[in-house]
Amino acid sequence: MTRLIFLGPPGAGKGTQAEILAKKLEIPHISTGEILREAIAQQTTLGIEAKNYVDNGDLVPNELILDLVKERLSQEDTKKGWILDGFPRNVHQASFLDELLAQLNQACDYVLNLDVQDEVLIERLLARGRKDDNKDTITNRLEVYRQQTAPLIDYYQKHNLLNQVNGDLTLNEVHESLLAIVKP
Ligand code: AMP
Repeated sequence: MTRLIFLGPPGAGKGTQAEILAKKLEIPHISTGEILREAIAQQTTLGIEAKNYVDNGDLVPNELILDLVKERLSQEDTKKGWILDGFPRNVHQASFLDELLAQLNQACDYVLNLDVQDEVLIERLLARGRKDDNKDTITNRLEVYRQQTAPLIDYYQKHNLLNQVNGDLTLNEVHESLLAIVKP
């Protein structure tokens, strides 16, 4: 049973590392960005409301995300553990998650912060080529990250949950560093 939160700027490799680790640990990988992209593709109410925010690289409003996460973490498959990727994204979401986990009688085991230099981030994002991976949107996403998400590093440090991981290394090296912390 492992419950993990991945933190880190866009392009740090959270999605890739979270997916590999989730397979290994046989627990669900919950990516709020992925849920939103699917909703946008299917033009659900959520997707229609979220689209402009995602396209511009802004955070979607908390009201759109919080219920969705509550519902997802209440599903049966999360009893075995979970990996959260892309949530929480600001302090409000983090304190919501604390309350939600208390209600569900769960606790997060580790917060893994993938630390990557800006130049590497921009290179990786441009190489990835998602719709929101163009120069203007990337600049905005990095700014949003710095202002709203980076304060979570301190937040989880104070909760004694933070683990720093050097995300500049290769995919395999980063995976090995994560395993050394999580020890499956
Ligand atoms: P990601 O796949 O995590 O890079 O997320 C892609 C986009 O989805 C972000 O730029 C935001 O617009 C939106 N998004 C994902 N997760 C969240 C969240 N927890 N809160 C607000 N917006 C989010």
